[in-house]
Amino acid sequence: MRTQVGIVGAGPAGLVLAHLLHLRGIDSVVLERQTREHVERRIRAGVLEHGTVDLLRDVGLAGRLLRERMVHHGIELLFDGTGHRIPLTDLAGREITIYGQHELVKDLVAARLGTGRPLLFQAPAVALDGLDDAPTIRFVQDGRPRELRCDVVVGCDGYHGVSRTAVADHAVTRYQREYPYAWLGVLAQAPPSSEELIYAYHDRGFALHSMRSPQITRLYLQVRPDEPVTDWPDERIWAELRRRLARDDPGWRLADGPILEKSVTTMRSVVVEPMRHGRLFLAGDAAHIVPATGAKGLNLAVADVAVLADALGAWAAGDTSGLDAYSARCLSRVWRVQHFSWWMTSMLHRAQDGDPFTHRLQLAQLRYLTGSRAAATSLAENYVGLPLTGGRT
Ligand SMILES: Cc1cc2nc3c(=O)[nH]c(=O)nc-3n(C[C@H](O)[C@H](O)[C@H](O)COP(=O)(O)OP(=O)(O)OC[C@H]3O[C@@H](n4cnc5c(N)ncnc54)[C@H](O)[C@@H]3O)c2cc1C
Repeated sequence: MRTQVGIVGAGPAGLVLAHLLHLRGIDSVVLERQTREHVERRIRAGVLEHGTVDLLRDVGLAGRLLRERMVHHGIELLFDGTGHRIPLTDLAGREITIYGQHELVKDLVAARLGTGRPLLFQAPAVALDGLDDAPTIRFVQDGRPRELRCDVVVGCDGYHGVSRTAVADHAVTRYQREYPYAWLGVLAQAPPSSEELIYAYHDRGFALHSMRSPQITRLYLQVRPDEPVTDWPDERIWAELRRRLARDDPGWRLADGPILEKSVTTMRSVVVEPMRHGRLFLAGDAAHIVPATGAKGLNLAVADVAVLADALGAWAAGDTSGLDAYSARCLSRVWRVQHFSWWMTSMLHRAQDGDPFTHRLQLAQLRYLTGSRAAATSLAENYVGLPLTGGRT
């Protein structure tokens, strides 16, 4: 097999890139390790920045999203038993969209298949060769080894993929921070108890009340990274959520219901520099991981491939300057977003040892944020997302 751009991974990064290249008349093949059903059911992110939605709409990928999404104009910070609304749209001029990542992936898979261009499921890449001048992706299909020769390879295969590990250790600088806590994430058949997201800072640990639709709630609890999910039967989860989301308003009640899914996700920040190695380009979680508190992982993946699609469009016309600038352009946004995600995470999670000094700093920061329009504007601007550049033809 031969193509212009070999894309490893059919998550948001790989599928959006494939579509943007299609619009530019550039051939690509997408290789995905999992089945279609698996990628379409994987419950992950749900907050889309304004710029992400604008791009998806402008390139024809947002038909169902625009019909079914929930638009939010604010978030709530809850601490000391009192909720404080941060009016995102008033402060930053833009809103956010709630739409499950798995729903977006369904739309992206359908769009790709609609173009008639290749998207191979159950086709894991196992090695990348010839990255300096003549790349080949070695992959497996129907139990048989196969090769995909390409002009360029894009590694969109997430944190556990093969693309990043194809680069020699000495050619990569890895920046990393592990957090001493994790998130127990729960998907529940229960209507949201609030119209907007609630970020709760509590003595017992962080909690987040989010949603995926008018019938489905997405909830998170700060837990220890080594805590098995079996330690959390449903009744314990609801009791803990009720405690951490409690407020002085006697009329407020957390709606509960059957828990459809639960899992523990560790929190880490990772950046791999550079994001280009010869003819290999890394995008999305393959190049960086952000702790989920800032709701940025999916958005950052889309931002990367918007830059890359423009660069590949210019490259197809003989101009390689965009590809040369790719890594630096993306990393500038990646580090801004890393800072925001680290800052939100550090402010909202209870220190493992309950350190009282840290606790008072966190409360001071939360009071400042909810008492100062300037401080709240900074949060709002980062939360709704910086303007997205590139991606349109
Ligand atoms: C468990 C989990 C929960 C998350 N929850 C949230 C959240 O609540 N809020 C939030 O904002 N963000 C969340 N995120 C982050 C967000 O979902 C990611 O940032 C986003 O999915 C990044 O998209 P991506 O396309 O770069 O990578 P991915 O979505 O990881 O896609 C990578 C794709 O590559 C495929 N792949 C891997 N290896 C190979 C191979 N060798 N060959 C072929 N294909 C391969 C994978 O199967 C996958 O389909 C979560 C992430 C995870 C892992």
